[in-house]
Amino acid sequence: MMAAQKMQTLLERLPAVRGRYTENAALAGITWFRVGGPAEVSFRPADRDDLAAFLMTKPADVPVTVIGVGSNLLVRDGGVPGVVIRLGRDFAGVEIGRTTVRAGAAALDLNVALAARNAGVAGLEFLSGIPGTIGGALRMNGGAYGKEMKDVTVSAEALDSRGRLHRLTLAELGFTYRHSEVAEDWIFLQAELQGSADDPAAIGQRMKEIQDKRESTQPIRTRTGGSTFANPAAPEAQGRKAWELIDGAGCRGLRIGGAMMSEKHCNFLINTGDATAADIESLGEEVRRRVKAQSGVDLQWEIRRIGVPARRGVAP
Ligand SMILES: Cc1cc2nc3c(=O)[nH]c(=O)nc-3n(C[C@H](O)[C@H](O)[C@H](O)COP(=O)(O)OP(=O)(O)OC[C@H]3O[C@@H](n4cnc5c(N)ncnc54)[C@H](O)[C@@H]3O)c2cc1C
Repeated sequence: MMAAQKMQTLLERLPAVRGRYTENAALAGITWFRVGGPAEVSFRPADRDDLAAFLMTKPADVPVTVIGVGSNLLVRDGGVPGVVIRLGRDFAGVEIGRTTVRAGAAALDLNVALAARNAGVAGLEFLSGIPGTIGGALRMNGGAYGKEMKDVTVSAEALDSRGRLHRLTLAELGFTYRHSEVAEDWIFLQAELQGSADDPAAIGQRMKEIQDKRESTQPIRTRTGGSTFANPAAPEAQGRKAWELIDGAGCRGLRIGGAMMSEKHCNFLINTGDATAADIESLGEEVRRRVKAQSGVDLQWEIRRIGVPARRGVAP
């Protein structure tokens, strides 16, 4: 009996769903870094009922990881054990009220900003500068140019690890700098955002200014994960941003294998072409070591790292 169970693949142990499972699903191509191993199984739920039923009935020992469009994600070379969930079209709706926006977790931040602009809803322009989804923005309290999700979110819906639906107020979302207190294994489904009425042309102009600023200050056309480290709050940092500490420690342009700290914005780690996830993570750790030695500050990763390293002797 035990032996028979051991022979079962993960896929065979998973509940029947209406959505799609894929075994050994490549993830590198869907993350911004373009590195990393496959998901043991990926799951695209058909809709929220399908997702809830999956969470309710899957074996308790199977780990689940949800991802957006991988713009803040380093997938390690050995891949991600368990099930990786990617929310599809059914979770990407955007509905506009007079000054409110309800956006599905899979909606791209840019699309939400554009829909709000078209309807004359101001205040969400900052989302046009973040290349992720609303789910990722809720998890990370994404922000740019002086505004973050904390400033515009009224409420959100999420499923817990047993598939139960929760409606969360702003206070319950517990947003702090690039962080939400909501349990790591909850999956956001949608957010209700509050804006204010304005002329679409004026909103569009502010979005253009954001785009221009990004173009000139960030390596947005490279394989990167955005800001690698959070700006530190520690007193040793003396108000300096992560990039200033990295620059001060001589790490601008530093390389390991195919990974490099960007010359343009030295808190951005980039894959110059043939980096492995191990190159990228090792370079990040080397930067942390040098910054600590130079300034005493312990930089914390802002990029989320998931999965396991490649097995020794096995090429990624
Ligand atoms: C060029 C570039 C510029 C960037 N600039 C900015 C910036 O200005 N400001 C900023 O805040 N960020 C920035 N980022 C980082 C990134 O875009 C944001 O963190 C974004 O919110 C991540 O969204 P995502 O959909 O890509 O999430 P992913 O990278 O796929 O995942 C990030 C985290 O969110 C979790 N997650 C994703 N979807 C859900 C969900 N539905 N429910 C629960 N958890 C979920 C994942 O588990 C993971 O922990 C930048 C990135 C790049 C590459």
